[in-house]
Amino acid sequence: MSYDVVIAGGSVAGLFCAREVAKAGHSVLVIEEDFEVGTPEHCGGLVSASGLGDLGIIPSTKTIDSQIQKAQLCAPSGTMLDINAKKQNVIVINRRELDKQIAHQAQKNGAEIRVKTSLKETKQNQAVTSAGTFDYKILVDARGVSSIIQKDRTGTLQSAQYEIYADWIQKGLVEVYFDSEKYPGFFSWVIPAANGIGKVGVAGRGINAIQTMEKFLESRGKHSTIRKVFAPIWVNGPIDEFVAGNTVIVGDAAGQSKPTTAGGIYSCGVGGVLAGKAISSYLESKNTNDLKSYQKSWSQKFGKEFEKQLFARKMLERLDNTTIDKIFSAITPEMISDISNNDDFDFHTTAIVKMLGLKGSLKIAQTIFGGEIRKLLN
Ligand SMILES: Cc1cc2nc3c(=O)[nH]c(=O)nc-3n(C[C@H](O)[C@H](O)[C@H](O)COP(=O)(O)OP(=O)(O)OC[C@H]3O[C@@H](n4cnc5c(N)ncnc54)[C@H](O)[C@@H]3O)c2cc1C
Repeated sequence: MSYDVVIAGGSVAGLFCAREVAKAGHSVLVIEEDFEVGTPEHCGGLVSASGLGDLGIIPSTKTIDSQIQKAQLCAPSGTMLDINAKKQNVIVINRRELDKQIAHQAQKNGAEIRVKTSLKETKQNQAVTSAGTFDYKILVDARGVSSIIQKDRTGTLQSAQYEIYADWIQKGLVEVYFDSEKYPGFFSWVIPAANGIGKVGVAGRGINAIQTMEKFLESRGKHSTIRKVFAPIWVNGPIDEFVAGNTVIVGDAAGQSKPTTAGGIYSCGVGGVLAGKAISSYLESKNTNDLKSYQKSWSQKFGKEFEKQLFARKMLERLDNTTIDKIFSAITPEMISDISNNDDFDFHTTAIVKMLGLKGSLKIAQTIFGGEIRKLLN
């Protein structure tokens, strides 16, 4: 069988791409190797409501688990900072439902989706899959981190995320724990779905994710685990070329998740949408510049912010616990209130700059990172 576009990977990036290609009237097949779209869920589900709106998603009651009221950041010493998150309108969504909602949009526009179908190889404009061979004009690689790590392993961190029942999980409260010894270059987290149910996760460079998770849970108290996910996360930012010949790379496969938190629903989803639009234009014009416009438009939106996030990541990887504690203890209530009232969940390096006190009295970061720190401010 023959399609204008074959998309390998039926998650946010691939499905948004399929929706846009189908909307423009081109034939598109999405192949997903798992047996169900949205499962297994490898995501905390934190996303801004405005980001979802940009992507053309009005979350259904099934899709939204809860709304975040507060983010609590915890230093190695135990110092806590509470950020009021109401203004940022961050929600916890059920990824299993969100992915199905996008799949439905894609299907309604004319896309065909096949599950339990895995891309094995490509040759001469043919996708060889576990369910047969399909001809294409454009192949989209939306296979997530599993695709990018075939080329480069250095940008991945190990993560574990368990879905648990525990009395200590509070609806509306996201918890983030920094400790450079336990979670080098990252943190552990608690994301509530409701009171008493949520996801806890750990990630870090070179950690044993299972042991680190068990220790974190032990420190928190009684719980019951209902699902375990182990997955690498990509934190090295975008790859150099999103388009190679007639292959277009989107989402995590193109390194489009945030270098700071590895959050990718929004930025990978936008990658899918922009790629879908560019592919549609190319199919009509046959002008390769149209295809290439995808990378330009994604970079215009996220390029600068991701460069800053990459720099913030470099800093985080170099901070020891004493320095993290010092930074925490120098953050004032005024800084917290400024972040709570003015900052953006999707473009959050301005909040990082404020926390490091770069525009205030604290000069710790400048002492540690010297002139390099300007990269965050520009
Ligand atoms: C533990 C964890 C927690 C996270 N929490 C958050 C969060 O709270 N908020 C947030 O915004 N982001 C979060 N993320 C990141 C987010 O999940 C990803 O950035 C996002 O899912 C990327 O979407 P994608 O479509 O590019 O790739 P993926 O969602 O990884 O999808 C790739 C798809 O390709 C399929 N596939 C792979 N190989 C093949 C093949 N050969 N043939 C066919 N199909 C194939 C896979 O089965 C999968 O369905 C988290 C990630 C992890 C690991």
